[in-house]
Amino acid sequence: MKQKRRDFIKSAGVLTTSAIAFSSSSSMFGKNYLSKTGSGKMKLTFKPYTLELKHVFTIATSSRTTTPVMLTEIEYDGIIGYGEASMPPYLGESQESAAKFLSKVNLSQFNDPFEMEKILDYVDAVDANNTAAKASVDIALHDLVGKLIGKPWYKIWGLDKEKTPVTSFTIGIDTTEVVKEKTKEAAEFKILKVKLGRDTDKQMIEAIRSVTDTALCVDVNQGWTDKEFALDMIHWLNERNIKFVEQPMPKTQIDDIAWLTEKSPLPTIADESIQRIPDVVKAYGVYSGVNVKLMKCTGMREAHKMLNLADSLGMKLMIGCMTETSCAISAASHLSPMVDFADLDGALLIGNDIFDGMKVIDGKVTLNDRPGIGLKKIK
Ligand SMILES: [Mg+2]
Repeated sequence: MKQKRRDFIKSAGVLTTSAIAFSSSSSMFGKNYLSKTGSGKMKLTFKPYTLELKHVFTIATSSRTTTPVMLTEIEYDGIIGYGEASMPPYLGESQESAAKFLSKVNLSQFNDPFEMEKILDYVDAVDANNTAAKASVDIALHDLVGKLIGKPWYKIWGLDKEKTPVTSFTIGIDTTEVVKEKTKEAAEFKILKVKLGRDTDKQMIEAIRSVTDTALCVDVNQGWTDKEFALDMIHWLNERNIKFVEQPMPKTQIDDIAWLTEKSPLPTIADESIQRIPDVVKAYGVYSGVNVKLMKCTGMREAHKMLNLADSLGMKLMIGCMTETSCAISAASHLSPMVDFADLDGALLIGNDIFDGMKVIDGKVTLNDRPGIGLKKIK
């Protein structure tokens, strides 16, 4: 029986050579493994992957053409849950740090995937930080549990699939001509996100406005340091169909941001200021809303809690992403019926996705009804 399962899993391509090399547990199955009763052990594997970006991606502080990720799988009872850690270099995690962290995660001590709180509390306590690596385990566990139940996560959470929002599509900082070109290519989207925080901010907006009237939101990535300047910019933006301003000033300038939010005609959304649950409480009274991202907050479980908390505080809700495959993007999309704003274009910015999952149709986040986070592997 054990041999048969091994052969099945190998032939299904579950364990690639690199996944075996990075395997976090030494034996495939513990001695209690029984395929029919579901008392098997969970097995975590992981392998590095590099996302190729379609365009050079430039924000206020950096530029890049690739994003390193770590792809994870949790196998239990012949079912596989998929997860992903996306690690843009400026956030401090890497494939090396993720491999080191994931090597320490021993899921074989658990034999019931439904003990999600217990398992994910354990994962969180394995080491400090490593939030993207933790998210890769959280996402894979959610995918697995959803598959075991046979339901998609939006349904398990009781959310309405029809209430998914439109997603913004990011236009990176570039020359006026390239910005116009990128804007025309993004005609499908109902809201565009513009990266500001340089001395070319007004030219960026004017270039876009010369080709479209589509709603915009702006992400300053902490780029404005003077509150009066920031308020003047927001008033200028408010006359140009802008929906909100993300992280207008450095996260350390809390009093300035609170002042700005009070006077701003547009909602201010915290991004760099927000990582985990306690940050939502700190953002209350400082920003109008919060941008929750799975890679910052350790995954779907905590993101769900943060959105509920922010909602109960009367704040605007946003869900965002890094450049990610459709794995992590789909995971975040299951929470999207809760939010006011979604920025889930990460998989559209890459040329080598390996999953089919959430789709953007006519600008709207569109979930499928496959169980778990709704993935199909395409590579
Ligand atoms: Mg942002």
